[in-house]
Amino acid sequence: MKTIFKPTPTVLTIAGFDPYGGAGIQIDSKTIHALGGYAYTVTTALTAQNSQGVYALEPVSPEMLRLQLTTLLDDVKVDAVKIGMLANTALIEVVVDVLKKYALSNIVLDPVMISSSGKELLEEEAVDVMVQRLFPLCRLITPNLMETNALLGTQYKGEMKESIVMANGLFKLGADAVLLKGGHGIEKEAVDCLVEPSGVTCISTPRVNTSHTHGTGCMLSSAIATYLAQTFTLKSSVKGAKNFLYERLQASKDLNLSYQSNNHDKKEPIF
Ligand code: PLP
Repeated sequence: MKTIFKPTPTVLTIAGFDPYGGAGIQIDSKTIHALGGYAYTVTTALTAQNSQGVYALEPVSPEMLRLQLTTLLDDVKVDAVKIGMLANTALIEVVVDVLKKYALSNIVLDPVMISSSGKELLEEEAVDVMVQRLFPLCRLITPNLMETNALLGTQYKGEMKESIVMANGLFKLGADAVLLKGGHGIEKEAVDCLVEPSGVTCISTPRVNTSHTHGTGCMLSSAIATYLAQTFTLKSSVKGAKNFLYERLQASKDLNLSYQSNNHDKKEPIF
């Protein structure tokens, strides 16, 4: 009997490079492979960072970003795209051009703006370009609380009674769907609200008390992209990804890295 080999689902991640291994293309690759996909990785920026935060950032040139993308996409097919840190307007313009040129689909954008340690990861003046030009190409955007306030000009604190209003406000910005993440909110559970044209679905998991929270947003968005690459519906992809993140956070204490100093204020990789 002949064995029929199914193609491996492929996900292109366009994101920043984290030498500490917990965010950006590093955690995206680990996530995509853990879920049975194959990761193509194109970087937008180098960073210098550790468990204390992001110290420096150097974007690649627009020419180099374009070449990384076109060299790869002239050769391989991708089933889904995860986009993370974009750094500046010129890099957003390149990404928009390339997504259109290759008619890429299943695009999940984590609209990364600032790290939890406070470093700006997207220039302020690039936010409008991201909204106007990139959001309309996206199957899903996944803003957190701070990004929601930056996008809507609000003072939302993550209270559940406001979340659906906020999520609907984000939906009006032009993406096909929005997942407003509740991880930074004040509710007991981490509740994420998915808005699709067909309506709102809220998905909840218990909060996990761990220092291993670096790159949670990157992991969630790349897991969603991997499920979409496997042809799951958007709702199933989001539920599967949220569950995967919850399970990995619960198991995150298994990762036991050694450090040079006894600083207790660490944000560590998830896996
Ligand atoms: N470094 C890179 C490359 C990132 O993409 C991000 C967030 O998306 C961060 C650092 C910050 O991660 P966190 O805020 O989870 O520590």
